[in-house]
Amino acid sequence: MAQNQTYNKLTAEEQRVIIDKGTEMPWQGIYTDHKEEGTYLCKQCDAPLYRSNDKFDSHCGWPSFDDEIDGAVKRVPDTDGRRTEIICANCGGHLGHVFLGEGFTAKNTRHCVNSISLTFEPVQPNTARAIFASGCFWGTEYHLQKVAGVISTTVGYTGGSKENPTYKEVCYTNTGHAEAVEVIYDPAKVSYEELAILFFETHDPTQVNRQGPDVGMQYRSEVFYRDDEQKDTAEKLIGILENKGYDIATQVTEATTFWPAEDYHQDYYDNQGSTPYCHFYQKKF
Ligand SMILES: [Zn+2]
Repeated sequence: MAQNQTYNKLTAEEQRVIIDKGTEMPWQGIYTDHKEEGTYLCKQCDAPLYRSNDKFDSHCGWPSFDDEIDGAVKRVPDTDGRRTEIICANCGGHLGHVFLGEGFTAKNTRHCVNSISLTFEPVQPNTARAIFASGCFWGTEYHLQKVAGVISTTVGYTGGSKENPTYKEVCYTNTGHAEAVEVIYDPAKVSYEELAILFFETHDPTQVNRQGPDVGMQYRSEVFYRDDEQKDTAEKLIGILENKGYDIATQVTEATTFWPAEDYHQDYYDNQGSTPYCHFYQKKF
């Protein structure tokens, strides 16, 4: 075993397999039929060993891979004199055995690995950010947070001058902030344009410094773009709406610091079990 490295503490069952070269019961391991995209790491030392792309269904009862991450897995003759044992190249932990020439895949190789020797690290989705203001942020968030591909939403204040503003300051003093929603989304699942269309279709972008009963510049309609692509998209959509006869009040402004609002404003309608009074869906595109 390599020295000078802290390993994860193993349970008795993990030790039985990883240190004492035992075998878990077939079909009992948690990764046998596991199909998520990601990387399988050594349970003991966290070294990356296998990629989900190399996993295949062998129907043998253990996770099977036809390739390993370069240099991550060492092959050694098993003490039984027949099989080839596979161990983690970094820590020497027992993984299972490798079999050749069975014809399961084009690589003709099957790493038969104990689930208990592995931990799984899923692929983290790419994320992007968008910020929209369309009146009371409770209602803006209500619609945006329900979109598939939206990972999280936060209501807050942006576009003004005061640092760390409070709700009271935004409402009753002239901080210049808009009530806004920051959206973290997976661009592989939902595009900025889809989010921006929903923004325009869930408020009235023709109202100036108000949204329904809420009056004041903190209730203005505004897109806070983070890059030229977001800016171009917002301007394009505004152009489409103007061609349809809407007199659009929505401003398009480069994003500055977004200040998250007080906790009781977050997820307001979902926490209350109610629905917005001022934000309704209306098809416009
Ligand atoms: Zn290891």
